[in-house]
Amino acid sequence: MTAEPLLSVRGLQAWYGRAHILTGVDLTVDRGEVVALMGRNGAGKTTTMKAIMGLLDRRSGTVAFDGRDVSALPPHRIARRGLGYVPEDRRVFTDLTVEENLEVGRQPPRDGAPHWTPERLYALFPNLAEMRGRRGGRMSGGEQQMLTLARTLMGNPSLLLLDEPSEGLAPRIVQQMADALRALKAEGLSILVSEQNLAFAAAVADRASVIEKGQIRFEGPMRTLLEDETVRRAYLAV
Ligand code: ATP
Repeated sequence: MTAEPLLSVRGLQAWYGRAHILTGVDLTVDRGEVVALMGRNGAGKTTTMKAIMGLLDRRSGTVAFDGRDVSALPPHRIARRGLGYVPEDRRVFTDLTVEENLEVGRQPPRDGAPHWTPERLYALFPNLAEMRGRRGGRMSGGEQQMLTLARTLMGNPSLLLLDEPSEGLAPRIVQQMADALRALKAEGLSILVSEQNLAFAAAVADRASVIEKGQIRFEGPMRTLLEDETVRRAYLAV
């Protein structure tokens, strides 16, 4: 049996112009696992996600996904392999309805990944079902966040990269987002979620990787991070 991780990132470095932001990030996500990438503002969470997706001009290191090195592939081909990226800023088509937004994301089913249809997604996100005819531009920030996630799921990814999904959401919506992520995990989806909110991460993640100044400083079970006040104080805003 293969015990190799679904996602394996080794020595990932990234630059914005001449600014060297990631100086060697190592992290893994196993099949069916939810890993929280934690760290303060500016620690490098978003940059790590973008570098994994091939969205930065300059980076080095290796990114292996599902047993293959994808480091040299362009973003759309990485996505086609089954990596679904949900960026921090909501990306809904404001002139399209909820239903139409979902159709834009539709891809064929993929072996080893859950197969999503609008109906299955409406069951997961009941508030989207209620507003299926509404245009994206007429939704709240939290609803747009849900819709962006749902549209990404229409691509039937086997791994989700979620960048700060709880940021700026009302507490009730944060709870809905956490429930949705737990339901996705129960479907067998693997998730790498970047978060600053420790309570949110604790509610959804099996394991945590904590990043500071472009390097992973702690890696271990979520439970260990919750018990380790020294690490929390050193690298998190708590
Ligand atoms: P946040 O929670 O603020 O999104 P983060 O952990 O995601 O934090 P990044 O967005 O990855 O952090 O930023 C890491 C570092 O890279 C920061 O010092 C930031 O100022 C810098 N940075 C981010 N984007 C750019 C850019 N386009 N050009 C130059 N520097 C950038």
